[in-house]
Amino acid sequence: MTLNRRTFLASAAVASASLSAPMVMAQGRPKVVVIGGGAGGATAARYIAKDSDGAIDVTLIEPTRQYYTCFFSNLYLGGFWEYENLGHSYGTLATEYGINVVHDWAIGVDRDARTVTTAGGHTLPYDRLIIAPGIDFIDGSVPGWDISAQDSMPHAYKAGSQTQLLKYQVENMREGGTYCMVAPPNPYRCPPGPYERVSMVAHVLKERNPTAKILILDPKENFSKRALFEDGWSRHYNGMIEWIGPDFGGANVEVRPESMEVVVDGQVQAVDVCNVIPAQKAGRIAEIAGVTDGNWAPVTPTDMRSRIDPNVFILGDASAQGAMPKSGFSANSQAKVAANNVRADLTGSRVFPARYSNTCWSLIGTDDGVKVGASYEPGADQIESVSSFISQVGEDADLRRRTYEESIGWYEGITADIFG
Ligand code: FAD
Repeated sequence: MTLNRRTFLASAAVASASLSAPMVMAQGRPKVVVIGGGAGGATAARYIAKDSDGAIDVTLIEPTRQYYTCFFSNLYLGGFWEYENLGHSYGTLATEYGINVVHDWAIGVDRDARTVTTAGGHTLPYDRLIIAPGIDFIDGSVPGWDISAQDSMPHAYKAGSQTQLLKYQVENMREGGTYCMVAPPNPYRCPPGPYERVSMVAHVLKERNPTAKILILDPKENFSKRALFEDGWSRHYNGMIEWIGPDFGGANVEVRPESMEVVVDGQVQAVDVCNVIPAQKAGRIAEIAGVTDGNWAPVTPTDMRSRIDPNVFILGDASAQGAMPKSGFSANSQAKVAANNVRADLTGSRVFPARYSNTCWSLIGTDDGVKVGASYEPGADQIESVSSFISQVGEDADLRRRTYEESIGWYEGITADIFG
């Protein structure tokens, strides 16, 4: 790392922060700015506002007026969930929690002056900053694909119109056609997400287009819940899904959006729908703020505080924290720990020991739900798993149905916890 004034000051500040957490003695109400109103950012904003009873001034910067969850977007693809039910607005956060919701893009962070600038021309001062922008894609990670190709080869890995487009393409695919997914390398948002998506696409094609084929091109040797997915695919969609791992060219893939072709280990193949999920990194504003260490933003495991600047916290997918998967559940869990620590910094309130948890449910077919999850605690250097569980192959149909129903209860609960 080259040392400039900012990084020097930041590392000096980290050193002093580790001796005693800085308590803000600012005049007036201390200010928290949150960048990103998703699972991490909106939860943190809500908990800080709620638990500080108006003692902290909270501003949430988020460009969209309606947030569409990626979680359950696969169920929408499969016809198990309505599009409208994926959308959530920020009205309650503003009216019931007094959060200043600014619909704008954060485009700059001056960590010396402690200000955030927005595309709309605002400069917002902060005492503590929370950065929770989710993911961006790594340019060039899938040769032939860039963001200008997302209309012909959608990623559908940021929800909303991309998910609608992919659903339209799947439902209107030529009879007997091929749906191809280019799966991402680790680490990425929602480890089981691509494989749940394939299950939901297969569910639709089995009904509407039973001679269609699904091809997964995967750079990874293995994937989340693999035994459960492969068992489910053979029971529900026998012969429809082909997984090509790195040994057979899954890591050597190029795409040609103009001609709708994929090139696997030099072999050209025509496809009808191509869902490209590129390699990922922290949302760009984290990089602009200078808090990333390469692709992700490292944090301390006790509080989600940036390792580069103690006045900054990073939540959710953008953070590099250790063992937790990049999920909405994780982001929500991390946000509550960070909110507790931000309040302690600014008002001297009590800090509780950090405890984190996560469960990822996936739907493989009708009423066939599976899950994987764990509890986590801060280790010496990063967040570590302390106990875990996973569904088993061969479970009875009633348990699978109850697991699916549990996931619906989780969706209702977590969206209320995020957006109020
Ligand atoms: P996000 O929720 O993406 O929020 C980031 C927000 O920041 C966005 O609203 C964005 O507009 C905003 N933003 C970005 N840049 C800026 C900027 N410069 N200025 C202002 N705002 C900005 N997780 C689960 O727990 N369970 C599931 O079942 C599940 N299923 C999934 C299925 C799929 C297909 C996918 C793709 C993901 C799934 N996930 C699931 C993962 C989950 O969606 C993410 O891990 C979660 O949304 C991460 O939360 P976040 O707050 O880090 O980012």
